[in-house]
Amino acid sequence: MSPTISFIGAAQTVTGSKFLVSTDQVQILVDCGMFQGIKELRLQNWQPFPINPSQLDAIVITHAHLDHCGYLPRLVRQGFNGKIYLTEYTAALAKIILRDSAKIQMEDAEFAQAKGFSKHNPPLPLYTDDDAEEAIKSFVEVDFRTDFAISADSSVKFLPSGHILGAAFIELTVAGKKLLFSGDLGRPVHPVLAAPDSIPPIKYDAVIVESTYGDRIHEDSGSILADTINRTIARGGTVLIPAFAVDRTEVLLMQLKELVESKEIPTVPIFVDSPMASAALDCYRSAIAEDSPEINAEVRVDPSHDIFALANLHETQSVSDSKALNQLKRPAIIIAASGMATGGRVVHHLARLLPDSANTVILVGFQAPGTRGRSLLEGAPTVKMHGIHVAVGAEVVYLPGLSVHADQTELLSWLFDTGASYEQMFIVHGEVPAATKFAELIQAKFPGKVTIPAQGETFNV
Ligand SMILES: [Zn+2]
Repeated sequence: MSPTISFIGAAQTVTGSKFLVSTDQVQILVDCGMFQGIKELRLQNWQPFPINPSQLDAIVITHAHLDHCGYLPRLVRQGFNGKIYLTEYTAALAKIILRDSAKIQMEDAEFAQAKGFSKHNPPLPLYTDDDAEEAIKSFVEVDFRTDFAISADSSVKFLPSGHILGAAFIELTVAGKKLLFSGDLGRPVHPVLAAPDSIPPIKYDAVIVESTYGDRIHEDSGSILADTINRTIARGGTVLIPAFAVDRTEVLLMQLKELVESKEIPTVPIFVDSPMASAALDCYRSAIAEDSPEINAEVRVDPSHDIFALANLHETQSVSDSKALNQLKRPAIIIAASGMATGGRVVHHLARLLPDSANTVILVGFQAPGTRGRSLLEGAPTVKMHGIHVAVGAEVVYLPGLSVHADQTELLSWLFDTGASYEQMFIVHGEVPAATKFAELIQAKFPGKVTIPAQGETFNV
């Protein structure tokens, strides 16, 4: 029997990646992401999974971002007891991310109980720390570029995608059919990571490709970062950078180090105010020290050199250290999660720093609809935090060049420049305008069937 593929997430949206590949012999889920962003999407985390999770044979995870692995403990809680295949550093980062997520789920449920605003009585967390630990126990680490058997007639191969440490695009072979999943594709140039591998030049029965920036070409940020920091310091302000705990913090620190060393910016205190970002930073440090092939050649020249070592860098751990930053004599640079300002310590910094026009908020990654980051990006005059509307007096700057996602040109080149061919193509992980534009561009190069699947749709491969 030929496989079918069902789109259970990241269908006409950028979040909740989950793709179910089924035959009468085997059921494999590719990615197991949590829905984030607007409430309508987040509520989908509470919808029943389309099949009984105990019937799933295996889950394959492309990378450790929450929208690709954050639903794992939920499926475990609902009876999934198979193996979870991922790379070494995806496992290391997913452990950090899932434990943090479980803590947030439990705190949210407690908060809802205290405030009495949940429809569950008592309010239930989506999952608990026990569920996260159970999921982690099922991890099976798989080497890059090696075929790994999942069942009698299915196998998976992980290839580096240069998106974050550990990230892969995957080749899934099921019942003789070959499917290629892009996961999130990184960019050809990354200051720390090696470029994405080329797609093997073979024929695929289907490719499932992301389209986050399918309608855009990234501009070079050039001197925007240095200019913005200098302008803010000159007016005595603080620079606040909401950043994804994994990868953006690393890239920012490297760039700040270069700017300090080349004296393009003065030496001001730089705070990484996120224990999760600090833990992720340690994963990057260990990959560099191990001389991992995921790290790019320039950094590998001297693996003993700590590329994140800034004399003026402070990594705050405790909540009281974080709150102490409120008393900070300006100027300073604060990097805090989360990247779209939906939660985490960045929220209390925003509440304090946003009203003052001396300060600057630098947005560095994709800002999903419904997030505070998106509101700031779109120039909202106020942003709601802790139940109150905070006026936006601070300057807001967007740095496009710091994206971890390939742009339109990079995606097309990756798909079509290596001699791989496709029977049919599915465009996922993009908002409708981006996915639609990208599908048009693809169709101009590809005579076969191009589909932008809707949530819940199933297709034959
Ligand atoms: Zn990602």
